[in-house]
Amino acid sequence: MNIYRLVARAIELSKVSHAYIISGGDEEALSLALYLARGVNCLASSGKPCGNCSSCRKIDSSNHPDVSITETAGAFIGIDYIRRLQKDIFVKPYEGKKRVSIIRQGERMTVQAQNCLLKVLEDPPGTGIIAITTANPVSLLPTILSRCQILKPDSERRIPDVAPYRDILKCFLDEGFVRASAETALLVKDDERSVEDFLDYSLLQLRDALVFKVAQKEDLLYIKESDEFARETAARYTLDKIGRLFDAVSKARENLRLNVNAQLAVEVFLLEIQEV
Ligand SMILES: [Zn+2]
Repeated sequence: MNIYRLVARAIELSKVSHAYIISGGDEEALSLALYLARGVNCLASSGKPCGNCSSCRKIDSSNHPDVSITETAGAFIGIDYIRRLQKDIFVKPYEGKKRVSIIRQGERMTVQAQNCLLKVLEDPPGTGIIAITTANPVSLLPTILSRCQILKPDSERRIPDVAPYRDILKCFLDEGFVRASAETALLVKDDERSVEDFLDYSLLQLRDALVFKVAQKEDLLYIKESDEFARETAARYTLDKIGRLFDAVSKARENLRLNVNAQLAVEVFLLEIQEV
């Protein structure tokens, strides 16, 4: 089902979640977030927004008192932005049905800002919806990821052939250090595939395992094809251990971002997960 129809259907059935992560390019993610905001507040229809009522038009022209976008022209969205959002989201809607707070480019939130947001997500207001748009969902804290429903505007597009990544990840968990080390050495040498892609993929898989462990719900999973992996990993390991694996992969990913050489990043990573 097209992602817009899926959102409209959720509104129609009153099954709107209180928090979404919309993962995609900036413009397309924002336009889905605004579609959601129009849909829940539309005066003429329940589901697909009409686009013509005063509410839809106010949202289109950024004049709706109940719909706000948190964004920054700077590099980071700091904690003060989220404190403002926190106050704002608990206010009753002035004229709409729901207050919708969109955090644009959520990957720019500092860790302090994300921790502040987490408090809101732990005890969300009944009449508020938070939609975080981001091109890079894995930069959000796992505790935030696990509390939000993930929508992908480009959900028709599948992650390109990830079978080799899946094999390596399984190998890490099944066969231990030596085999995994040999496998990743191959990955580092392979021009077609990058260590970066592999780590991103692993983060999403482990994120799914965390979510499955906590919520036991497959419809919250990010990589649909991974149901089995998420389920198996969730069954095999404690929440704590999956969390530590996630942290080890995050750290390796961060090292790569800081331009640590891929071989070294992988070696450090392997040593770390050995101790996990
Ligand atoms: Zn409307």
